[in-house]
Amino acid sequence: MNLLEKLDAAAAARKALLPAGLGAFGIPIEEIYSSTEARIGDRRVLLLGTNNYLGLTFAPECIQAAHAAIDSEGTGTTGSRMANGNYNGHRALEQEFADFYQCRSSIVFTTGYQANLGTISGIVGPGDVVLIDGDSHASIYDGCILSGADIIRFKHNDMADMEKRLRRLGERTHTTLIIAEGIYSMLGDQAPLVDIVRLKNAYNCTLLLDEAHSLGVLGETGQGLAEKTGLVKEVDFITGTFSKSLSSIGGYCVSNHPQLDQLRYVSHPYIFTASPSPATIASTRAALRLLQKGNNLREKLWQNSLQLYSQLTRAGYTLGPEPGPVIAVILDNPEQALTLWQGLLEHDIYVNLILPPAAPEGKSLVRCSVNAAHTDKQIDYVGRTFTKLYPNIFQ
Ligand code: PMP
Repeated sequence: MNLLEKLDAAAAARKALLPAGLGAFGIPIEEIYSSTEARIGDRRVLLLGTNNYLGLTFAPECIQAAHAAIDSEGTGTTGSRMANGNYNGHRALEQEFADFYQCRSSIVFTTGYQANLGTISGIVGPGDVVLIDGDSHASIYDGCILSGADIIRFKHNDMADMEKRLRRLGERTHTTLIIAEGIYSMLGDQAPLVDIVRLKNAYNCTLLLDEAHSLGVLGETGQGLAEKTGLVKEVDFITGTFSKSLSSIGGYCVSNHPQLDQLRYVSHPYIFTASPSPATIASTRAALRLLQKGNNLREKLWQNSLQLYSQLTRAGYTLGPEPGPVIAVILDNPEQALTLWQGLLEHDIYVNLILPPAAPEGKSLVRCSVNAAHTDKQIDYVGRTFTKLYPNIFQ
């Protein structure tokens, strides 16, 4: 099979999984009305499959800041942070992230994907080890591959398995980077950070925590799982994204280690790409301010999350192990997931469909993401619709 035939075979496999005309992946959003509503085809749908946890995509403060930045600094930087793309706004945002976490310094990347690629490949290299959770996001896997370090996986959130692997590493634990996530994006559960930190210290490793889904969601001021567990100072590197609670695009790494700055000179995903646009940086700075004083948003987000989690549990669905803004409905097979996904869309509700091999352990998921802008009425409608569809799925 030549290269193009291989792509044809992959397309055929995808088509076999999805009935004709059902564009579940990359569905076109025709118009976007607010952080909870959009038009798909001729339907006005309720958005329940975004990462817009604090619902800030239309926050006037962020929109005004972005407008002002375009007017004064133009549409793009047209260059790398290491060349012509290092504006005041980028440096100010780095200082604001460092202040937010009360850490020594931070680096802003162009996406969260690149933050993981750039940080991981900057810290470890050939001969080193990365010990990662089996459910890690693709950006973590890709960062590990780019680094050339030896990749060892432990079973998702299984501390006995993690310790077994640490014991086997012997002296190599000194050059081992452990990687975990604050909230896992597939099942919505949190890392057992207290145990991870205990093992990291016992075996003298370095720890990176990706707070992509937990920034703005967990912790008194929204720093994430490290803040919730009182362990910010114990985590060596925290990475995250602007594309979820901060409602824009970009990524960051914060650390107390002075060596973080060195990544700017070695990390290809930092050096060889254009820096975020002025509008992106300005809206992110405004969103970070809202996030820090956003306790009412976090409260509403959790109220919505708990309400939907309990409604879906009562309806009989099997859910991810822990309530939170990411609520994964676990189905036995892709057909059930598709039927549910399609049924929801017919009731004007958009959620994410995740089929094997993308979901962990060959599962099929219908994943809901709740946000702070959802009204009680919207959440209740979603709960009632899931309840109504249950017999169609498990007949
Ligand atoms: N880490 C995790 C855990 C993620 O889920 C994502 C995005 N889905 C990223 C990193 C990458 O973030 P970005 O969208 O900013 O590239």
